[in-house]
Amino acid sequence: MGHVLQCHHLGLPGLRRPERIRKPVTMHYEGTIIRPPSEANSILLQVTVGCSRNKCTFCGTYAGERFRIKPDETIREDIAFAAAYCRRQRRVFLCDGDALIIPQARLLQILKAIRAQLPWVTRVGAYANAKSLAIKSPDDLRKLRGEGLGILYMGLETGDDETLTRINKGAGSVKMIAMGRKARDAGFKLSLTVLLGIAGRERSQIHARETGRVLSAIDPDYVGALSLMRIPSTPLYNDWRAGAFALIEPSEMLAELRTMIAETSLSQGLFHANHASNYLPIRARLPRDKEATLALIDRALAGDVALKPEFMRAL
Ligand code: SF4
Repeated sequence: MGHVLQCHHLGLPGLRRPERIRKPVTMHYEGTIIRPPSEANSILLQVTVGCSRNKCTFCGTYAGERFRIKPDETIREDIAFAAAYCRRQRRVFLCDGDALIIPQARLLQILKAIRAQLPWVTRVGAYANAKSLAIKSPDDLRKLRGEGLGILYMGLETGDDETLTRINKGAGSVKMIAMGRKARDAGFKLSLTVLLGIAGRERSQIHARETGRVLSAIDPDYVGALSLMRIPSTPLYNDWRAGAFALIEPSEMLAELRTMIAETSLSQGLFHANHASNYLPIRARLPRDKEATLALIDRALAGDVALKPEFMRAL
């Protein structure tokens, strides 16, 4: 058992008198639980442990964690717990790294149980990746959408094929575009994450342009641009220590972000770069805010807007 999180609105007065608490008293959390920032107030229902890929060179989230789907009985107990204690939370997020990989019949069963026992929940979200989206047929995805799975979060990281290969993402840009479109066509809201700095110095601007190209082709509802953080003991960290990977400076990340936004055409998507790891908070509805955002970045590059100091960056 690792970090244990409890329902945000647990409000168990009986905590001071543990003998009076009905079982179950908490959900069955294992390992490190992560969720997108926008799911901060959601019921965090852990249906898998770890990530089915667990090979991306920059990611240390599930290091050493063997991927597994949690037993049906455990998931049922956790939904029952949420039904008793999480009645004010309107959203559910299915943890961990890649819940969409769960076989179709089991995933449908989980969504039906959520709908039956948590009828106040208006949206269920999950992480997805190119592999889990490839396994599901368009009809599978539509059925999941029909049972309440409303939003998928996918790590694109970059649209640059060479960088996708280097970071061992497991899919090139053609597959990323196809899988992103597949999710959109099935009716999901789609949120993509891209990583500033992931291509190092030499390919920084190529990464920015290619990412803009892929984002435009997928046309997601949300884009979150995060700045690369060094996670000790990951392959990318070891490359950096060995001098084989160049970490770019804040101004270079900003120049990367500028090119990325300039090259991205969305029909009505929201482009965020306001995660705690970023140097300049950006929130732009594209295409409406594109020119104003580029002008803001130009002012920051010229030194007229303060960047977040290094010590304030934290994930
Ligand atoms: S797919 Fe996501 S969670 Fe899994 S290893 Fe890659 S970056 Fe980490």
